Amino acid sequence: MRGELMEDLFELLRAQVLEGVADLARRVALRRAVESYVSNKKKVLSKLKHLRALGLEVRRIKEESISRMHELVKEASEAIEENNGKAYVARTSEEARRIVAEIVGEGKLIVKSKSLTCEEILLREYLEEEFKCKVVETDLGEFIVQVRGEKPTHIINPSIHVPREEVARTFSKLAGRELPSDIPTLVAFAREYLRKYYMKADVGISGANVVAAQTGTIFIVENEGNARFSTNAPPVHVCVVGIEKVVPTLSDAFKVIEVLPAYATGVTMAAYVSMITSPSRTADIEKKVVYGAHGPKELHVVFLDNGRSEIARHPVFREALYCLKCGGCLYECPVYRVLDGRFGHNYFGGVGSVWTAYTRGFDKALFAYLCTGCGRCREVCPVRVDVPRLVEELRAELVKMGFKHPKAEQFFKNIALAGNPWGEPRERRELVRGADREVALRLE
Ligand code: SF4
Repeated sequence: MRGELMEDLFELLRAQVLEGVADLARRVALRRAVESYVSNKKKVLSKLKHLRALGLEVRRIKEESISRMHELVKEASEAIEENNGKAYVARTSEEARRIVAEIVGEGKLIVKSKSLTCEEILLREYLEEEFKCKVVETDLGEFIVQVRGEKPTHIINPSIHVPREEVARTFSKLAGRELPSDIPTLVAFAREYLRKYYMKADVGISGANVVAAQTGTIFIVENEGNARFSTNAPPVHVCVVGIEKVVPTLSDAFKVIEVLPAYATGVTMAAYVSMITSPSRTADIEKKVVYGAHGPKELHVVFLDNGRSEIARHPVFREALYCLKCGGCLYECPVYRVLDGRFGHNYFGGVGSVWTAYTRGFDKALFAYLCTGCGRCREVCPVRVDVPRLVEELRAELVKMGFKHPKAEQFFKNIALAGNPWGEPRERRELVRGADREVALRLE
Protein backbone atom coordinates (compact mmCIF):
# COMPACT_ATOMS: atom_id res chain seq x y z
CA MET A 1 0.00 0.00 0.00
CA ARG A 2 1.23 3.51 -0.83
CA GLY A 3 2.79 5.58 1.97
CA GLU A 4 0.19 8.40 1.76
CA LEU A 5 -2.71 5.95 1.90
CA MET A 6 -1.19 4.27 4.91
CA GLU A 7 -0.66 7.64 6.55
CA ASP A 8 -4.35 8.43 5.91
CA LEU A 9 -5.41 5.22 7.68
CA PHE A 10 -3.31 6.09 10.71
CA GLU A 11 -4.52 9.70 10.66
CA LEU A 12 -8.08 8.39 10.76
CA LEU A 13 -7.20 6.24 13.74
CA ARG A 14 -5.54 9.19 15.48
CA ALA A 15 -8.58 11.38 14.82
CA GLN A 16 -10.82 8.70 16.38
CA VAL A 17 -8.63 8.58 19.48
CA LEU A 18 -8.67 12.35 19.90
CA GLU A 19 -12.44 12.45 19.32
CA GLY A 20 -12.91 9.74 21.97
CA VAL A 21 -10.76 11.53 24.52
CA ALA A 22 -12.74 14.74 24.02
CA ASP A 23 -16.20 13.10 24.09
CA LEU A 24 -17.09 13.59 27.75
CA ALA A 25 -20.82 12.78 27.42
CA ARG A 26 -20.01 9.30 26.10
CA ARG A 27 -17.50 8.73 28.84
CA VAL A 28 -20.11 9.61 31.45
CA ALA A 29 -22.50 7.01 29.98
CA LEU A 30 -19.72 4.46 29.82
CA ARG A 31 -18.55 5.11 33.38
CA ARG A 32 -22.10 4.64 34.70
CA ALA A 33 -22.47 1.35 32.79
CA VAL A 34 -19.04 -0.01 33.76
CA GLU A 35 -19.50 0.79 37.47
CA SER A 36 -22.82 -1.00 37.54
CA TYR A 37 -21.53 -4.03 35.58
CA VAL A 38 -18.34 -4.47 37.63
CA SER A 39 -20.12 -4.38 40.98
CA ASN A 40 -22.88 -6.76 39.80
CA LYS A 41 -20.40 -9.24 38.34
CA LYS A 42 -18.34 -9.20 41.53
CA LYS A 43 -21.43 -10.08 43.58
CA VAL A 44 -22.42 -12.89 41.22
CA LEU A 45 -18.94 -14.43 41.10
CA SER A 46 -18.67 -14.41 44.87
CA LYS A 47 -22.03 -16.17 45.07
CA LEU A 48 -21.48 -18.67 42.22
CA LYS A 49 -17.91 -19.65 43.02
CA HIS A 50 -17.96 -22.66 40.70
CA LEU A 51 -18.23 -20.45 37.61
CA ARG A 52 -14.48 -19.87 37.39
CA ALA A 53 -13.78 -23.62 37.14
CA LEU A 54 -16.75 -24.09 34.82
CA GLY A 55 -15.27 -21.42 32.54
CA LEU A 56 -12.18 -23.60 32.12
CA GLU A 57 -14.37 -26.60 31.38
CA VAL A 58 -16.13 -24.51 28.70
CA ARG A 59 -12.74 -23.63 27.25
CA ARG A 60 -11.99 -27.34 26.91
CA ILE A 61 -15.34 -27.83 25.17
CA LYS A 62 -14.58 -24.98 22.78
CA GLU A 63 -11.09 -26.36 22.02
CA GLU A 64 -12.60 -29.70 21.08
CA SER A 65 -15.46 -28.10 19.13
CA ILE A 66 -13.20 -25.87 17.05
CA SER A 67 -10.97 -28.84 16.17
CA ARG A 68 -14.11 -30.62 14.82
CA MET A 69 -15.96 -27.50 13.65
CA HIS A 70 -17.06 -28.68 10.19
CA GLU A 71 -18.02 -32.14 11.38
CA LEU A 72 -20.19 -30.58 14.12
CA VAL A 73 -21.85 -28.15 11.70
CA LYS A 74 -22.74 -31.13 9.49
CA GLU A 75 -24.16 -33.02 12.45
CA ALA A 76 -26.19 -29.99 13.57
CA SER A 77 -27.47 -29.38 10.02
CA GLU A 78 -28.64 -32.99 9.71
CA ALA A 79 -30.43 -32.80 13.06
CA ILE A 80 -32.15 -29.54 12.06
CA GLU A 81 -33.34 -31.04 8.76
CA GLU A 82 -34.55 -34.20 10.52
CA ASN A 83 -36.71 -31.96 12.68
CA ASN A 84 -38.26 -30.27 9.66
CA GLY A 85 -36.09 -27.17 9.79
CA LYS A 86 -33.79 -26.04 6.96
CA ALA A 87 -30.04 -25.67 7.42
CA TYR A 88 -27.60 -23.78 5.18
CA VAL A 89 -23.85 -23.16 5.28
CA ALA A 90 -22.66 -19.79 3.94
CA ARG A 91 -18.96 -19.42 3.14
CA THR A 92 -19.03 -15.63 2.92
CA SER A 93 -21.14 -12.75 4.17
CA GLU A 94 -22.47 -12.18 0.62
CA GLU A 95 -23.61 -15.78 0.45
CA ALA A 96 -25.30 -15.55 3.86
CA ARG A 97 -27.12 -12.34 2.90
CA ARG A 98 -28.30 -13.91 -0.36
CA ILE A 99 -29.62 -17.00 1.44
CA VAL A 100 -31.53 -14.91 3.99
CA ALA A 101 -32.91 -12.57 1.30
CA GLU A 102 -34.21 -15.55 -0.69
CA ILE A 103 -36.03 -16.88 2.37
CA VAL A 104 -37.43 -13.48 3.36
CA GLY A 105 -38.41 -11.97 0.00
CA GLU A 106 -39.11 -8.34 -0.90
CA GLY A 107 -40.94 -5.66 1.05
CA LYS A 108 -41.41 -7.71 4.24
CA LEU A 109 -41.77 -6.58 7.83
CA ILE A 110 -39.05 -8.14 9.96
CA VAL A 111 -38.56 -8.09 13.71
CA LYS A 112 -34.97 -8.73 14.64
CA SER A 113 -33.35 -9.59 17.94
CA LYS A 114 -29.76 -8.56 18.68
CA SER A 115 -27.19 -10.52 16.71
CA LEU A 116 -23.52 -9.75 16.33
CA THR A 117 -23.33 -12.20 13.43
CA CYS A 118 -26.08 -10.30 11.55
CA GLU A 119 -24.18 -7.07 12.23
CA GLU A 120 -21.03 -8.72 10.88
CA ILE A 121 -22.68 -9.35 7.51
CA LEU A 122 -24.59 -6.03 7.51
CA LEU A 123 -27.83 -7.95 7.11
CA ARG A 124 -30.26 -5.24 8.18
CA GLU A 125 -28.80 -2.68 5.79
CA TYR A 126 -28.87 -5.24 2.95
CA LEU A 127 -32.51 -6.24 3.47
CA GLU A 128 -33.59 -2.61 3.78
CA GLU A 129 -31.63 -1.25 0.85
CA GLU A 130 -31.75 -4.12 -1.64
CA PHE A 131 -35.05 -5.78 -0.71
CA LYS A 132 -37.07 -2.83 0.58
CA CYS A 133 -37.89 -4.62 3.83
CA LYS A 134 -38.64 -2.81 7.08
CA VAL A 135 -36.37 -4.26 9.75
CA VAL A 136 -37.21 -3.35 13.35
CA GLU A 137 -34.52 -3.92 15.98
CA THR A 138 -36.25 -5.11 19.16
CA ASP A 139 -33.41 -5.28 21.67
CA LEU A 140 -33.59 -1.97 23.55
CA GLY A 141 -29.94 -1.05 22.97
CA GLU A 142 -30.08 -1.99 19.27
CA PHE A 143 -33.35 -0.08 18.94
CA ILE A 144 -31.75 3.05 20.44
CA VAL A 145 -28.81 2.95 18.02
CA GLN A 146 -31.08 2.12 15.08
CA VAL A 147 -33.34 5.12 15.79
CA ARG A 148 -30.29 7.36 16.24
CA GLY A 149 -28.76 6.09 12.98
CA GLU A 150 -25.64 4.91 14.81
CA LYS A 151 -23.63 1.71 15.02
CA PRO A 152 -23.46 -0.50 18.13
CA THR A 153 -20.47 0.26 20.34
CA HIS A 154 -20.43 -2.84 22.53
CA ILE A 155 -21.12 -6.46 21.59
CA ILE A 156 -23.64 -7.01 24.40
CA ASN A 157 -24.70 -3.47 25.21
CA PRO A 158 -24.96 -1.74 21.81
CA SER A 159 -26.01 1.69 23.14
CA ILE A 160 -23.56 1.78 26.05
CA HIS A 161 -22.29 5.15 24.81
CA VAL A 162 -25.71 6.87 24.99
CA PRO A 163 -26.52 8.54 28.32
CA ARG A 164 -30.13 8.47 29.55
CA GLU A 165 -30.58 12.17 28.73
CA GLU A 166 -29.79 11.46 25.07
CA VAL A 167 -32.10 8.42 25.01
CA ALA A 168 -34.87 10.70 26.30
CA ARG A 169 -34.22 13.21 23.50
CA THR A 170 -34.22 10.44 20.86
CA PHE A 171 -37.42 8.79 22.15
CA SER A 172 -39.16 12.16 22.58
CA LYS A 173 -38.72 12.84 18.86
CA LEU A 174 -40.10 9.40 18.04
CA ALA A 175 -43.03 9.77 20.43
CA GLY A 176 -43.84 13.31 19.34
CA ARG A 177 -44.01 14.34 22.99
CA GLU A 178 -41.55 15.23 25.72
CA LEU A 179 -40.30 12.19 27.65
CA PRO A 180 -38.35 12.57 30.90
CA SER A 181 -34.85 11.07 31.24
CA ASP A 182 -36.19 8.65 33.79
CA ILE A 183 -35.03 5.16 32.77
CA PRO A 184 -38.23 3.17 33.62
CA THR A 185 -40.30 5.64 31.56
CA LEU A 186 -37.96 5.24 28.60
CA VAL A 187 -38.11 1.44 28.84
CA ALA A 188 -41.91 1.58 29.04
CA PHE A 189 -42.04 3.72 25.91
CA ALA A 190 -39.89 1.23 23.95
CA ARG A 191 -42.04 -1.66 25.19
CA GLU A 192 -45.23 0.01 24.03
CA TYR A 193 -43.72 1.14 20.72
CA LEU A 194 -42.27 -2.26 19.76
CA ARG A 195 -45.14 -4.49 20.82
CA LYS A 196 -47.26 -3.65 17.80
CA TYR A 197 -44.65 -5.06 15.41
CA TYR A 198 -44.29 -8.60 16.71
CA MET A 199 -47.68 -9.94 15.64
CA LYS A 200 -47.63 -8.10 12.31
CA ALA A 201 -44.14 -9.21 11.26
CA ASP A 202 -43.64 -11.65 8.37
CA VAL A 203 -40.28 -12.87 9.61
CA GLY A 204 -38.27 -12.93 12.82
CA ILE A 205 -34.47 -12.87 12.57
CA SER A 206 -32.12 -13.81 15.39
CA GLY A 207 -28.62 -14.98 16.11
CA ALA A 208 -27.76 -17.73 18.62
CA ASN A 209 -25.37 -18.02 21.55
CA VAL A 210 -24.62 -21.71 21.15
CA VAL A 211 -25.87 -24.68 19.12
CA ALA A 212 -25.90 -28.33 20.23
CA ALA A 213 -24.85 -30.49 17.26
CA GLN A 214 -26.43 -33.68 18.60
CA THR A 215 -30.00 -32.34 18.46
CA GLY A 216 -29.56 -29.24 16.30
CA THR A 217 -30.92 -27.12 19.16
CA ILE A 218 -30.14 -23.41 19.04
CA PHE A 219 -29.91 -21.49 22.31
CA ILE A 220 -30.75 -17.81 22.61
CA VAL A 221 -29.91 -16.10 25.88
CA GLU A 222 -31.53 -12.76 26.73
CA ASN A 223 -32.99 -10.64 29.52
CA GLU A 224 -35.59 -8.47 27.80
CA GLY A 225 -37.93 -11.07 26.31
CA ASN A 226 -37.76 -9.47 22.86
CA ALA A 227 -35.90 -12.43 21.33
CA ARG A 228 -38.75 -14.71 22.44
CA PHE A 229 -41.34 -12.50 20.76
CA SER A 230 -39.23 -12.07 17.62
CA THR A 231 -38.54 -15.77 17.18
CA ASN A 232 -41.98 -16.96 18.21
CA ALA A 233 -44.65 -14.57 16.92
CA PRO A 234 -43.86 -14.37 13.16
CA PRO A 235 -44.61 -17.37 10.91
CA VAL A 236 -40.97 -17.67 9.79
CA HIS A 237 -37.83 -17.68 11.96
CA VAL A 238 -34.39 -17.22 10.41
CA CYS A 239 -31.35 -17.73 12.64
CA VAL A 240 -27.86 -16.67 11.49
CA VAL A 241 -25.10 -18.21 13.58
CA GLY A 242 -21.31 -18.48 13.29
CA ILE A 243 -19.94 -21.99 12.78
CA GLU A 244 -17.74 -21.60 15.86
CA LYS A 245 -20.84 -21.61 18.08
CA VAL A 246 -21.58 -25.32 17.58
CA VAL A 247 -20.66 -27.64 20.47
CA PRO A 248 -21.12 -31.42 20.53
CA THR A 249 -23.94 -32.04 23.01
CA LEU A 250 -26.84 -30.45 24.87
CA SER A 251 -24.98 -30.74 28.15
CA ASP A 252 -21.96 -28.91 26.62
CA ALA A 253 -24.32 -26.15 25.48
CA PHE A 254 -25.84 -25.87 28.97
CA LYS A 255 -22.36 -25.32 30.41
CA VAL A 256 -21.82 -22.40 28.03
CA ILE A 257 -25.21 -21.00 29.02
CA GLU A 258 -24.42 -21.34 32.71
CA VAL A 259 -21.18 -19.34 32.39
CA LEU A 260 -22.30 -16.64 29.97
CA PRO A 261 -24.79 -14.43 31.92
CA ALA A 262 -22.48 -13.64 34.86
CA TYR A 263 -19.76 -12.35 32.53
CA ALA A 264 -22.07 -10.78 29.96
CA THR A 265 -24.47 -8.84 32.17
CA GLY A 266 -23.46 -9.54 35.78
CA VAL A 267 -26.49 -11.70 36.61
CA THR A 268 -26.70 -15.19 38.09
CA MET A 269 -28.78 -16.41 35.15
CA ALA A 270 -30.36 -14.73 32.16
CA ALA A 271 -34.07 -13.95 32.45
CA TYR A 272 -34.80 -16.13 29.42
CA VAL A 273 -33.03 -18.95 27.62
CA SER A 274 -34.86 -20.10 24.49
CA MET A 275 -34.02 -23.53 23.11
CA ILE A 276 -35.30 -24.01 19.57
CA THR A 277 -35.06 -27.40 17.89
CA SER A 278 -37.70 -27.28 15.16
CA PRO A 279 -40.56 -25.19 13.79
CA SER A 280 -43.51 -25.14 16.16
CA ARG A 281 -45.44 -28.38 15.95
CA THR A 282 -48.35 -30.31 17.45
CA ALA A 283 -49.51 -33.92 17.40
CA ASP A 284 -52.55 -33.32 19.56
CA ILE A 285 -55.07 -34.49 17.00
CA GLU A 286 -54.76 -38.25 16.41
CA LYS A 287 -50.98 -38.04 16.97
CA LYS A 288 -50.56 -36.59 13.47
CA VAL A 289 -47.63 -34.11 13.46
CA VAL A 290 -48.50 -30.72 11.99
CA TYR A 291 -45.94 -27.90 11.77
CA GLY A 292 -46.95 -24.34 12.63
CA ALA A 293 -49.03 -24.58 15.81
CA HIS A 294 -48.63 -21.36 17.80
CA GLY A 295 -45.03 -20.54 16.88
CA PRO A 296 -43.31 -20.27 13.46
CA LYS A 297 -44.18 -22.68 10.67
CA GLU A 298 -40.67 -22.46 9.26
CA LEU A 299 -37.24 -22.53 10.89
CA HIS A 300 -34.14 -21.68 8.81
CA VAL A 301 -30.66 -21.85 10.32
CA VAL A 302 -27.81 -20.26 8.37
CA PHE A 303 -24.34 -21.31 9.55
CA LEU A 304 -21.81 -18.62 8.68
CA ASP A 305 -18.13 -19.26 7.98
CA ASN A 306 -16.85 -15.88 6.69
CA GLY A 307 -13.22 -16.37 7.72
CA ARG A 308 -13.77 -18.63 10.71
CA SER A 309 -12.22 -21.67 8.99
CA GLU A 310 -9.15 -19.61 8.26
CA ILE A 311 -8.92 -18.46 11.89
CA ALA A 312 -9.24 -22.10 13.02
CA ARG A 313 -6.29 -23.10 10.84
CA HIS A 314 -4.00 -20.47 12.38
CA PRO A 315 -1.96 -21.82 15.33
CA VAL A 316 -2.35 -18.62 17.40
CA PHE A 317 -5.52 -16.92 16.13
CA ARG A 318 -7.59 -20.10 16.57
CA GLU A 319 -7.92 -19.07 20.22
CA ALA A 320 -10.12 -16.12 19.16
CA LEU A 321 -12.80 -18.70 18.27
CA TYR A 322 -13.03 -19.80 21.91
CA CYS A 323 -14.42 -16.34 22.76
CA LEU A 324 -18.01 -16.56 24.04
CA LYS A 325 -18.74 -12.94 23.05
CA CYS A 326 -19.64 -12.05 26.62
CA GLY A 327 -18.08 -8.60 26.26
CA GLY A 328 -16.68 -8.79 29.81
CA CYS A 329 -13.15 -7.89 28.71
CA LEU A 330 -14.40 -4.66 27.15
CA TYR A 331 -15.84 -3.31 30.40
CA GLU A 332 -12.47 -3.87 32.05
CA CYS A 333 -10.31 -2.55 29.21
CA PRO A 334 -8.66 0.85 29.87
CA VAL A 335 -8.62 1.75 26.16
CA TYR A 336 -12.26 0.76 25.59
CA ARG A 337 -13.32 2.84 28.59
CA VAL A 338 -12.11 5.93 26.75
CA LEU A 339 -12.83 5.06 23.14
CA ASP A 340 -15.81 2.67 23.33
CA GLY A 341 -16.98 1.83 19.79
CA ARG A 342 -14.01 3.64 18.27
CA PHE A 343 -11.84 0.80 19.61
CA GLY A 344 -13.13 -1.64 17.02
CA HIS A 345 -15.18 -2.31 13.98
CA ASN A 346 -18.30 -4.35 14.79
CA TYR A 347 -16.04 -6.46 17.01
CA PHE A 348 -14.25 -4.45 19.68
CA GLY A 349 -11.14 -4.54 21.86
CA GLY A 350 -8.15 -6.86 21.60
CA VAL A 351 -10.01 -10.05 20.71
CA GLY A 352 -12.23 -7.98 18.40
CA SER A 353 -9.21 -6.91 16.37
CA VAL A 354 -8.62 -10.51 15.22
CA TRP A 355 -12.34 -10.97 14.47
CA THR A 356 -12.38 -7.72 12.52
CA ALA A 357 -9.26 -8.66 10.53
CA TYR A 358 -10.78 -11.94 9.35
CA THR A 359 -14.41 -10.88 8.91
CA ARG A 360 -13.99 -7.31 7.59
CA GLY A 361 -10.38 -7.12 6.41
CA PHE A 362 -6.94 -6.49 7.93
CA ASP A 363 -7.04 -2.81 6.89
CA LYS A 364 -9.98 -2.37 9.32
CA ALA A 365 -8.04 -3.95 12.20
CA LEU A 366 -5.39 -1.26 12.74
CA PHE A 367 -7.05 -0.46 16.06
CA ALA A 368 -5.00 -3.43 17.35
CA TYR A 369 -2.17 -0.90 17.64
CA LEU A 370 -4.16 0.99 20.31
CA CYS A 371 -4.05 -1.93 22.77
CA THR A 372 -1.79 -1.22 25.75
CA GLY A 373 -1.07 -4.92 26.31
CA CYS A 374 -2.01 -4.61 29.99
CA GLY A 375 -3.46 -8.13 30.04
CA ARG A 376 -6.52 -7.29 32.15
CA CYS A 377 -8.73 -8.86 29.45
CA ARG A 378 -7.05 -12.26 29.88
CA GLU A 379 -7.55 -12.15 33.66
CA VAL A 380 -11.28 -11.41 33.49
CA CYS A 381 -12.11 -13.73 30.58
CA PRO A 382 -14.23 -16.75 31.60
CA VAL A 383 -12.41 -18.99 29.10
CA ARG A 384 -9.00 -17.27 29.56
CA VAL A 385 -8.54 -16.23 25.95
CA ASP A 386 -4.95 -15.02 25.75
CA VAL A 387 -5.91 -11.70 24.15
CA PRO A 388 -2.50 -9.98 24.53
CA ARG A 389 -0.86 -12.83 22.62
CA LEU A 390 -3.49 -12.56 19.87
CA VAL A 391 -2.89 -8.82 19.58
CA GLU A 392 0.88 -9.28 19.46
CA GLU A 393 0.54 -11.83 16.67
CA LEU A 394 -1.92 -9.65 14.77
CA ARG A 395 0.40 -6.66 14.97
CA ALA A 396 3.21 -8.82 13.57
CA GLU A 397 0.91 -9.89 10.71
CA LEU A 398 -0.10 -6.29 10.06
CA VAL A 399 3.54 -5.23 9.86
CA LYS A 400 4.30 -8.12 7.47
CA MET A 401 1.39 -7.01 5.28
CA GLY A 402 2.71 -3.46 5.22
CA PHE A 403 0.05 -2.00 7.55
CA LYS A 404 2.48 0.01 9.62
CA HIS A 405 2.89 3.72 10.14
CA PRO A 406 5.16 5.14 7.40
CA LYS A 407 7.18 6.88 10.09
CA ALA A 408 7.44 3.80 12.36
CA GLU A 409 11.15 3.23 11.66
CA GLN A 410 11.89 6.86 12.37
CA PHE A 411 9.94 6.59 15.66
CA PHE A 412 12.06 3.59 16.72
CA LYS A 413 15.28 5.44 15.91
CA ASN A 414 14.07 8.49 17.84
CA ILE A 415 13.23 6.36 20.87
CA ALA A 416 16.67 4.76 20.77
CA LEU A 417 18.47 8.08 20.43
CA ALA A 418 16.31 10.57 22.31
CA GLY A 419 14.05 8.37 24.44
CA ASN A 420 10.86 9.59 22.75
CA PRO A 421 9.22 8.93 19.36
CA TRP A 422 9.37 12.59 18.27
CA GLY A 423 13.12 12.85 18.63
CA GLU A 424 12.91 15.78 21.00
CA PRO A 425 16.15 16.44 22.91
CA ARG A 426 16.28 14.69 26.28
CA GLU A 427 16.68 18.03 28.12
CA ARG A 428 13.40 19.32 26.70
CA ARG A 429 11.59 16.11 27.68
CA GLU A 430 12.96 16.53 31.19
CA LEU A 431 11.43 20.01 31.25
CA VAL A 432 8.07 18.67 30.02
CA ARG A 433 8.15 15.88 32.59
CA GLY A 434 8.94 18.41 35.33
CA ALA A 435 5.98 20.55 34.23
CA ASP A 436 3.72 17.48 34.16
CA ARG A 437 4.78 16.59 37.69
CA GLU A 438 4.00 20.11 38.85
CA VAL A 439 0.53 20.01 37.30
CA ALA A 440 -0.07 16.58 38.83
CA LEU A 441 0.95 17.85 42.27
CA ARG A 442 -1.36 20.85 41.94
CA LEU A 443 -4.25 18.57 41.04
CA GLU A 444 -3.71 16.27 44.00
S1 SF4 B 1 -12.35 -12.65 25.08
FE1 SF4 B 1 -13.25 -13.59 26.91
S2 SF4 B 1 -13.99 -11.83 28.15
FE2 SF4 B 1 -13.66 -11.09 26.04
S3 SF4 B 1 -15.65 -11.28 25.03
FE3 SF4 B 1 -14.50 -13.16 24.61
S4 SF4 B 1 -15.10 -14.60 26.22
FE4 SF4 B 1 -15.73 -12.56 26.90
